This record gives sequence, structure tokens and C-alpha cells, in this order.
Amino acid sequence: MNLKETIREIPDYPEKGISFKDITTMLKDSEAFKEVVNQVHENFRDKGITKIVSLESRGFIVGGAVAYLLDAGFVPVRKKGKLPAETVTESYELEYGSDQIEMHLDALTEDDVVLIHDDLLATGGTALAALNLVEKMKVKKVYFSFICDLKFISNGKKDQLSKYETHTLVEY
Ligand code: IMP
Repeated sequence: MNLKETIREIPDYPEKGISFKDITTMLKDSEAFKEVVNQVHENFRDKGITKIVSLESRGFIVGGAVAYLLDAGFVPVRKKGKLPAETVTESYELEYGSDQIEMHLDALTEDDVVLIHDDLLATGGTALAALNLVEKMKVKKVYFSFICDLKFISNGKKDQLSKYETHTLVEY
């Protein structure tokens, strides 16, 4: 199945010049959704993953399904102020200004093998911030999974991620 064909591209969204990759058309296609979840599961089934760390909000959809299949726990990373208990926080730069993401302080332990999953890798800023959160907990090992990788973007942040084993399904 050609998964790329199930992803819709929206020109000039959220601003002029950006071609937004809309995965909702992939998610509503039952065969495509199953294929994505099965392929991520297949790739990581022998890695001893104990926790899926996913990013608000599109990362939760496939991340949750993969956690179920891998018999792993699910850990949400959310925008600042959304999680109710004590958190660890990481700031990261956006094109204009900065943002903060948080994870519960007790979400991970040193025994965890973590798969960080998000829908899309663009500049790598979000993924790197998630990595910094996860590494604060001194986990055993970290893997990455993205549905889409915007390969035409390359920078120092993506270079920092390249030493981690990463699985992607659709490249642009
Ligand atoms: P980055 O931090 O620049 O790598 O951007 C990745 C984050 O922005 C992810 O959490 C994505 O959900 C979101 N994102 C950026 N561009 C797109 C897109 O074209 N489609 C869907 N999500 C996107």
C-alpha cells in the first residue's frame, strides 16, 4: 500500500509557503491506519521497548495503538500546564519565540527502554526537546519513530538525532 498517497497536502497552511502534511486522511482510511500501526510494531517488536513517549496531540493516535501491540506503557508529553502532577519541563525554540513541553516526573525510570513517537519530523526541534526530557530520567535506551520525515529539511538538530535508531514510513 502506498501510504504517501493517503496523506493529504494542504498548500499555504498554517502560513504561506508551507505545504502541510495532513495525516487525518491516512487515519480515517482503516487499511492505511492498520498498516502504519503494524509496520511500527513490526520494526520495534524485538527491541524490548517498555514505554512509548508520544507528543501532543497527533503523536498520541498511532503511539497509543503501538504501545498496546508492544505491551508497552504509554507516556504523554504535553504542552506546558496540561499535566496535573509534578513534571519535568523542556524549552525549545520555534521560528518565532519559544515553547515548552512537559512530562510527568514519575513517568519513566532507569529501567525503561523508550520509543519516542510523533507524526512528523520537520526541523527536529520538537523531537530533540522530547529527547532531552526523556534523558533527564536516565533511561536505558531511546529509539525514534515518525510517520513522516521532511528530508528536505536538514540542520544541526536533526544531526543530533541521527545517532538514535529511527524508523520512518513516508519521506518528503
Ligand atoms: P519540528 O519540531 O519542526 O520537527 O516539527 C514537528 C512538530 O510539528 C510535530 O509535532 C508535528 O506534529 C508538527 N508539524 C510540523 N509540520 C507538520 C506538518 O506538515 N504536518 C503535521 N504536523 C506537522
